[in-house]
Amino acid sequence: MKTIGLIGGMSWESTVTYYQIINETVKVHLGGLHSAKILLYSVDFDEIERCQSSGDWNKAAALLADSAQRLERGGADFLVICTNTMHKLVPQIQQVINIPVLHIAEVTADELVEHNIRKVGLLGTKYTMTQDFYKNKLMERGIDIIVPDGKDINIVNNIIYNELCCGLISQTSKAKYLEIISKLQKCGAEAIILGCTEIGLLIKQEDISLPVFDTTLIHAQKAAMLAIEKIVS
Ligand code: GLU
Repeated sequence: MKTIGLIGGMSWESTVTYYQIINETVKVHLGGLHSAKILLYSVDFDEIERCQSSGDWNKAAALLADSAQRLERGGADFLVICTNTMHKLVPQIQQVINIPVLHIAEVTADELVEHNIRKVGLLGTKYTMTQDFYKNKLMERGIDIIVPDGKDINIVNNIIYNELCCGLISQTSKAKYLEIISKLQKCGAEAIILGCTEIGLLIKQEDISLPVFDTTLIHAQKAAMLAIEKIVS
């Protein structure tokens, strides 16, 4: 079995889900007492968020590159960065390590293509929804992306940082998300990407009629499958 290196803590609320889903997936496939081999480097998210909001992406890249090197030195076979937003820094992180990064947008794009989704609504942080680093990975696969309008981008983003990353799950915020999702549906979205690893704590497939692609679940399941590939094949 391969050892998975997780860079977590962004936020730790969603890293918990990664740990659980990876182990559940290994259990489903290998049974018995099997569990995943995992190294976790969990950052202090306050430090990372200060870099994001001040635009100091170089400092954030240095912090995450250091975490990645620690995981490689510890024996990780591949890296899983437990946040969509910080995939912005994959090029800088990949430069300093020799193990591969399992890219969250690439594995999500694979799932969308497999389900024949051509136009998708994307929810995430303002960085993920407005910048190119994430959307390009989907567009390269021929997928059209719809994001909320300016006011709704702020609502979605503020709920992530002020509530979900602090472990606060509010029915009022859920209603706001559902309203924004229904606007994306009216604009032609065939599915919704939960493109932030905490959104799955608030919105579930049973809440909406459109197919939901929860990046946390997809990423964690792919990581587990990659770790046990040789054993199950
Ligand atoms: N976990 C979130 C994401 O998937 C947001 C926190 C962060 O900025 O890393 O984008």
